[in-house]
Amino acid sequence: MKNYLSDREMRCHDGTPYPAEHADRLEELRGVFNPLREMWGEPLYVTSGYRTPDYNRKVGGRPQSQHLQGRAVDVNVLRATAWASIRVDDAGLRAADLVTDELAALALRMHRQGKIRIGGIGLYHSKELGKTWRQPFLHLDVRPGRLRFFGSHVSELLEIWREVKG
Ligand SMILES: [Zn+2]
Repeated sequence: MKNYLSDREMRCHDGTPYPAEHADRLEELRGVFNPLREMWGEPLYVTSGYRTPDYNRKVGGRPQSQHLQGRAVDVNVLRATAWASIRVDDAGLRAADLVTDELAALALRMHRQGKIRIGGIGLYHSKELGKTWRQPFLHLDVRPGRLRFFGSHVSELLEIWREVKG
């Protein structure tokens, strides 16, 4: 299968490369990302991969964040430039949330079918931050153990999961 998750996308935003000692975790993440991207059929944009402890503090990440361990990616359905053209009063804002829900549903369906193994999934809708809006995103990680759900829209995510399970 083609690799869609580059080393460059996975490095920390402060420039620190993805740690070589976690190569097995990166392979596990690619085992989730690549089949998902293939089924999705359109580009997915990684906004956060590996994070150093310093950088994680700076962006207000949780101290136990899976990003610190190289086990997580945050995924946007829109390129940053496309997102920037969406205005707050635009119906596109809601549309971007709905497309992110669709991506969550696909990821959970594939997990349910045993095509990928997700450890944690987080659904975040668009959110006002001062005068700008944060793009909705999906957090995916490969932590060990049973599937965990979280995010600003965790109840919606659980509803999607119930539908997927049927
Ligand atoms: Zn994340």
